[in-house]
Amino acid sequence: MNPRDKRPGEKRTFGGGRPAGAVWYVLGFLLVMAIVQAYFVAPAGKPISYSEFKQAIRSGQVVEVFVGEQSIRGTYKKETNGGSSFTTSRIEDPKLIEDFDAAGVKYTGEFVSRWLPEVLGWIVPLLLLFGIWTFFLRRMGGAEGGVMSFARSKHRVFAEDDVKVSFADVAGVDEAEQELKEIVEFLRNPGKYTTLGGRIPKGVLLVGPPGTGKTLLARAVAGEAKVPFFSLSGSEFVEMFVGVGAARVRDLFQQAEAKAPCIIFIDELDALGRARAQGPMGSHEEREQTLNQLLAEMDGFDSRKAIIIMAATNRPEVLDPALLRPGRFDRQVLVDKPDVKGREEVLRIHTRNVKLAPAVSLRLIAARTAGFAGADLANLVNEAALLAARTDKVSVEAVDFEAAIDRLIAGLERKRVMSGKEREIVAYHESGHAIVATAIPGMDPVHKISIVQRGFGALGYTMQLPLEDRYLMQRGDLLNQLAVLLGGRTAEEIALGEISTGAQNDLQRATDIARAMVTEWGMSDVLGAINYDGHKRSKFLDIPVGPERGPYGEDTARIIDAEVKRIMTEAHNTARRLLTARRPLLDIVTRRLLEQEVMEGAELREILGAPPGAPEESPETTPRPPGVH
Ligand code: ADP
Ligand code: MG
Ligand code: ZN
Repeated sequence: MNPRDKRPGEKRTFGGGRPAGAVWYVLGFLLVMAIVQAYFVAPAGKPISYSEFKQAIRSGQVVEVFVGEQSIRGTYKKETNGGSSFTTSRIEDPKLIEDFDAAGVKYTGEFVSRWLPEVLGWIVPLLLLFGIWTFFLRRMGGAEGGVMSFARSKHRVFAEDDVKVSFADVAGVDEAEQELKEIVEFLRNPGKYTTLGGRIPKGVLLVGPPGTGKTLLARAVAGEAKVPFFSLSGSEFVEMFVGVGAARVRDLFQQAEAKAPCIIFIDELDALGRARAQGPMGSHEEREQTLNQLLAEMDGFDSRKAIIIMAATNRPEVLDPALLRPGRFDRQVLVDKPDVKGREEVLRIHTRNVKLAPAVSLRLIAARTAGFAGADLANLVNEAALLAARTDKVSVEAVDFEAAIDRLIAGLERKRVMSGKEREIVAYHESGHAIVATAIPGMDPVHKISIVQRGFGALGYTMQLPLEDRYLMQRGDLLNQLAVLLGGRTAEEIALGEISTGAQNDLQRATDIARAMVTEWGMSDVLGAINYDGHKRSKFLDIPVGPERGPYGEDTARIIDAEVKRIMTEAHNTARRLLTARRPLLDIVTRRLLEQEVMEGAELREILGAPPGAPEESPETTPRPPGVH
């Protein structure tokens, strides 16, 4: 996992964790208010009582007075009080003017305009309130200014016009790269494809564990095609206020259309595209609206316009199925963790600017870092370089890499990097699937075997690609399929004399098939052609719905169980027979797999001496989902 990755749904807050900002805000306004008060409201001079004032007038100590509305300000004569000034409050006194005249005081009626202090007295608190209000709105509104950014959203999405990343910066994900080359080709030359009326893929979803280079690949596509690259994170769409995210999506597509050909990249799509009506917190109206807007835009824009929407996620299972429908993100590209060769290439890329000691073998480092993703390897190189620098070396040596690996593996331990023993078990298991699948004639050919740990829980996999679409399966086909499914576990039994928990999913699937053979497809001679489970399966999805058990009695249930068991045992025996006869080959395939971590179908068939098999993929048809065990 890449520690620099931002978690989906995590929000950055403006000025978060700095409450002092608010305090200064308030204090500033208070200060302004105090000054205003002092200037316009508070009287100047030494306050004296009215009787003192009268006394001073009568005794001729005063030169000049200003009679204000509520107060009287005056200045003493130089001789008496050094010419200082005073104030007193004004009291109803009809004889005041006579006194002034008698004492020979210069007097003026002062016209004080009251509107300024009064208006300020209103406005300052208002401003203050407004300031506090916007301040909190911003904090709530997340990233760049909450509601305020609604209008400004135009400036937020920034199109990188000249992306410097290319496929040369990405390694270890050759299959994904291969698929994306087609997109690059199209973006470079959209006319060529559209003049013939062809339609271009709209959405490409990069799926894979964190740190495998999904973001990097998307940028590389833009860099290779030399088109502008609009990049946003899914969480940036999800705002506090309903409608803002949707407006942002609309805006994004408008901008993109103006710049076509270009790429829109939505990173961490799961933050936005999580299946609707999920979660205990009631409806997520904002996210839903945003998602709907995205779907509408994707459906709406002219597919002849060369805009490719790419997205990345490491949690494809939570995505709303609507996103994966044809015309949306219907292309899915698996970006997997690299195998040993891939890791070596990734290391080569990241050590381009690192001074390596001559004895450093990247191959050896790659061999020691099973389970590392690209980002982990980049991290490793950096860590090793830092360690070397700390001890004032002139180049990074093998021991630095060793130390860095140890340190990183300790950190990765929680993420379960497989131990040597576990790798061996997985290798035997996958070899078992693959050998059984190849040994039985007429099975879907094995496309690839891998013991590279994947992010989705699988420790390894054997992938079979069907040669043709199949709508009907015969009983023999199903029995063979069961043998393949049980092949993994059987290989563990034969080679290691022990079975592991790794076969749980295989067993589940095998049992489902066996049960369906008995209860749904009438393939058991004992029970005959009766469907015992009714319409249990959803019409469009291959998932069981409704109650587990159909309307049958205890006796029938017992017979069903016995039949399922019999079929499973038969399949198990087939797998054991096939594998025992190929015992030395099982070891060879396993050892090869432990060395190189992945094996192509062709290589496997060569080892087994099987016919090379028909061409596996024809680009014209999308194969039905491959069987993965
Ligand atoms: P993701 O988006 O899949 O989580 P990133 O693309 O963000 O992974 O990868 C983070 C960094 O790790 C990249 O910037 C790059 O330096 C490095 N990296 C990851 N995968 C690869 C790879 N396949 N080849 C080269 N570098 C990689
Ligand atoms: Mg990423
Ligand atoms: Zn398996």
